[in-house]
Amino acid sequence: MANYNPVTPRIVAELQQLVGAKNVTVDPDKMQPYSHDEVTDSRYHSLPEVVVFPETTAQVAQVVRLANKERVPVVPRGAGTGLACGAVPVHRGIILSLEYMNKILEVNVESLFMVVEPGVRTEDVQKAAKAAGLFYGGDPCSGDSCFIGGNVATNAGGNRAVKYGTTRDQVYAIEVVTPTGDIVDLGGRLEKVSTGYSLEQLIIGSEGTLGVITKVTLRLLPLPLHVVDLLAVFPTIESAIAIVGKIAKAGVTPTCVEFIDNVTIQSIERFLNEKLPYSDSCHYIIIQVEGKDEDDLDDKSALLDELCTTNGARSVLVADPQQIWRARKAFTETVRHESLIMSKEDIVVPVDQIPQMMRDIAALSGKYGMITRTASHAGDGNIHLNILRCDMPEEEWDHKLDAFQHELYAIVYRLGGKLSGEHGIGAKRLHLMQEVCNPIELGMMRAIKKALDPNLILNPGKIFDVV
Ligand SMILES: Cc1cc2nc3c(=O)[nH]c(=O)nc-3n(C[C@H](O)[C@H](O)[C@H](O)COP(=O)(O)OP(=O)(O)OC[C@H]3O[C@@H](n4cnc5c(N)ncnc54)[C@H](O)[C@@H]3O)c2cc1C
Repeated sequence: MANYNPVTPRIVAELQQLVGAKNVTVDPDKMQPYSHDEVTDSRYHSLPEVVVFPETTAQVAQVVRLANKERVPVVPRGAGTGLACGAVPVHRGIILSLEYMNKILEVNVESLFMVVEPGVRTEDVQKAAKAAGLFYGGDPCSGDSCFIGGNVATNAGGNRAVKYGTTRDQVYAIEVVTPTGDIVDLGGRLEKVSTGYSLEQLIIGSEGTLGVITKVTLRLLPLPLHVVDLLAVFPTIESAIAIVGKIAKAGVTPTCVEFIDNVTIQSIERFLNEKLPYSDSCHYIIIQVEGKDEDDLDDKSALLDELCTTNGARSVLVADPQQIWRARKAFTETVRHESLIMSKEDIVVPVDQIPQMMRDIAALSGKYGMITRTASHAGDGNIHLNILRCDMPEEEWDHKLDAFQHELYAIVYRLGGKLSGEHGIGAKRLHLMQEVCNPIELGMMRAIKKALDPNLILNPGKIFDVV
């Protein structure tokens, strides 16, 4: 681990010169919101020494260059909705907030692309595409608050990944400030390319450790006009989860297949103070499907209905999209309402291993006497397992969680899975990453980090330690 220098009054004055005094703060009250992301355990919080708000790529480059020269950590930050402490300044230093770089620079209807600055809210990207009669495929549940730059940095997934892929599949090109303060354009508006390493794909998902994303060219698509949300309710978790593989084989590609277990549905009901269908005992599978016209949509819906019914669904309803997505998107808030402290696991396994994974999770929850809540992007194998502390004493919680996670990730990797499907590693999963990741793979990642960021100033203490 590198030795870092403190942010001195001289460095603060230089930062003020670079981005303007109004765009720099050292006020502890104003910096407090930048000491954490959405992880509520205060043991993962850390106050920066200074927060800067650049307005241009040139300013970002100058700040990073200064940080590199002074050996001061610099942490890029979007909206701070992350769930892995990726934007937390664990070694203090500079928070580089991209929130003022929030312009949509171009929506090109002819050639179906959009160019945006990193601080544009994801929902605003979706709205701008829709206003132009087009469609943006990314849709994380946090879309009303997270930024597109954060989505690119974490390779955010969300509700449409089964059909449209994750954020990396929506990106043509990025402008990046390197850890030494150079500005580089990576990728291109190309449908194929075989020209050396795919560096834009390396930066995407690197959680702000390899570069600061300062501009993004996004792929747009024709707007799907015929969409339906089906709610299939199942009496058992087994039958609900088993349907995921069957849908994959049925020749229909839904936009999403989401799973919520019954205990979680009842919690969401209490949190929203709203009655949800079949909430007494059933588990939910939400399937969204698109058709090229009404007839096509009817055919696909009928096929999915039959598939779910013959596989044990108690009922298959055309869902009220507002209600069902409000309920799905309330998952994070609901769980937080039940227990302020929790561990949010973001397991991903091959889709055909989900039933086994769910059985193993149930067995582990029983073995350790831990309260768990599950909602999953089941169609792409991504299980959001929330382990709740509730009123468990801290020492017992730490001990049991550690043991639970060790067993859990041994199973995940045995089943061919990985530590995180979409939230990233950040600071929160660093210790697990170093434990479960193949050492050769980890060595390759460390070599890349050292090559691109020789002074290790960009977002240190994330993903893995570099020695
Ligand atoms: C209610 C809720 C629902 C969520 N649902 C989903 C979901 O469905 N799918 C999903 O994938 N995630 C989800 N998340 C997690 C989170 O919203 C995503 O990880 C999101 O992409 C983070 O964006 P952000 O702008 O808040 O980034 P931040 O939290 O600010 O930062 C996240 C990481 O990206 C880096 N970063 C941010 N901006 C840049 C930049 N411009 N250049 C370089 N690095 C940068 C940071 O250093 C950090 O490592 C959810 C979170 C909440 C609270």
